[in-house]
Amino acid sequence: MVSLRDINPYLDELTALRHDLHAHPEIGMEEHRTADLVARELERLGIEVHRGVGRTGVVGVLRVGNGEGAIGLRADMDALAMAEANDLPYRSTIPGMMHACGHDGHTTMLLGAARYLVETRRFNGTVNLIFQPGEEGAGGAEAMIADGLFERFPCDSVFGMHNRPGLDVGQYRITPGPAMAGGAFFTVTVEGRGAHGARPEDSIDPVPAVAQITLALQTIVSRNMPPEERAVVSITRLSGGDAFNVIPQTASLGGTIRCFSRALMEKIRERIETVAAHTAEAYGARATVSFRPIFAPLINDKEQAALYADAAAELVGEGAVDRHGAAVMGSEDFSFMTERVPGAYIHVGAGPGRTLHHELYDFNDAVIPYGVALYVSVVERKLAPEAF
Ligand SMILES: [Zn+2]
Ligand SMILES: [Zn+2]
Repeated sequence: MVSLRDINPYLDELTALRHDLHAHPEIGMEEHRTADLVARELERLGIEVHRGVGRTGVVGVLRVGNGEGAIGLRADMDALAMAEANDLPYRSTIPGMMHACGHDGHTTMLLGAARYLVETRRFNGTVNLIFQPGEEGAGGAEAMIADGLFERFPCDSVFGMHNRPGLDVGQYRITPGPAMAGGAFFTVTVEGRGAHGARPEDSIDPVPAVAQITLALQTIVSRNMPPEERAVVSITRLSGGDAFNVIPQTASLGGTIRCFSRALMEKIRERIETVAAHTAEAYGARATVSFRPIFAPLINDKEQAALYADAAAELVGEGAVDRHGAAVMGSEDFSFMTERVPGAYIHVGAGPGRTLHHELYDFNDAVIPYGVALYVSVVERKLAPEAF
């Protein structure tokens, strides 16, 4: 079984690779240089490479022995559209783009695992190395799935990870079952009849309707959700006319919802539509609702989560693994993969430092061995030679 110490010989090279990725960030679905670098690195290792899976996604296929088992390991590759405020030798060279979520580190760690697995070959079966584009709301996981990810590269199980500032380096946290919220964005547009601001009797004013709908939607969580469930409905945008003396023809509101099941997402959508339609109607106006699911709820398969935690405990000891972390309202599009294949997603401690998406964030290179060794450990467990 792999140990953290086994990763040491790789660290200099992996750290240099991570800094190179950090200096060249690319936003979602535009990761051309990154994908090329990943593909060339996999080819150099002698791994079968498939480029362009879901536009800029890359899949490496590593087969050892005659085992029929197959596992997917996933890392995300995209950066964010924000300017970096760090003064680092390897700071972003691309204006307005930055690796502020540590996907440079995730990509590096999966490449490190690929190298270790090629050199040691202590498993029997197929490892699919999934380098996903566009995690930050750009639909990268869905793009790979729509491009036949799991038909072309069948997996019995799939594993993802994310670095977590605030959790000590050398610690892991996992949440069996519902782990991260699903999310959707919505817009309600109310159409009335515009008029002069001094002549309301000529208008059907959409503004009070939008104001009333904004308040009425606040009751979805308090009155329509089971109290033991967690859900959020946040209205974050309001807009109406532009002039002081014109009653506008239309006004709108928009926001985001979060919850932990597809059924509740559907219920919230239904409530938004009903409340918007009937409230607007009461004012003589008409409402249309656009509801766009962005992330599915992330549900960790209990069996895979336990195995993932076992693999982590083998590396750092049981005391450094939180097997029952609290579910969080944040979202992650790895959820679309775990909807199709039993899988699990773990938080890897990244120590003190800036939070994710901060302009001064930088992936902590001390995390690299903990990610590489965990990917390897889960392969050695799931595809153990003696199991076949
Ligand atoms: Zn992020
Ligand atoms: Zn991220």
